[in-house]
Amino acid sequence: MGMIPAAWGLAGAHGKQHPPDPTHPAGGNTYARTRHRGRMPRPSVIHRFQIPVDGHPRILDIAGDLLHAAVRHRPDLIDVWAYARPDGMKHMHRSFLVVGTGHTTPLTSQHVATCLTPDGALVWHVLENLCTHQAVRDTGEGKQGRAGVCCDCGLPLLQRGTEPWLPA
Ligand SMILES: [Zn+2]
Repeated sequence: MGMIPAAWGLAGAHGKQHPPDPTHPAGGNTYARTRHRGRMPRPSVIHRFQIPVDGHPRILDIAGDLLHAAVRHRPDLIDVWAYARPDGMKHMHRSFLVVGTGHTTPLTSQHVATCLTPDGALVWHVLENLCTHQAVRDTGEGKQGRAGVCCDCGLPLLQRGTEPWLPA
């Protein structure tokens, strides 16, 4: 009961922890040294993207989730911020739409953020489009594969070879 591991006692009571290594770029911090070792490129730049307030989904080439949403200059254009997809990371094919308070939201969508116009008069809601694009209207062969349009969410789609239809 009440035993403190000897190593903790030494380090805490007598300050015998090793000081950070000034010759190492991470200063001897184990977390900072090891967190870049994974094979996945780590997103490091935050970009701003814009989504018009029209209820139609827009594809955003992002890495991870939206970080923030705001209305700045135009009351019908939403700014969102997210990590940009770094080179070497696969496209996430995520899409988002904006609807107003009281508007019908698609069944296959999930609320992500809410923002107000600067005067506070209008409140917009950013939703992620979770449509799985099962009903596709094939619009013919394109440069990169077969082109189509999702009959449910309206997104332009692309099919490469035998891969599934994905937002283009
Ligand atoms: Zn769809």
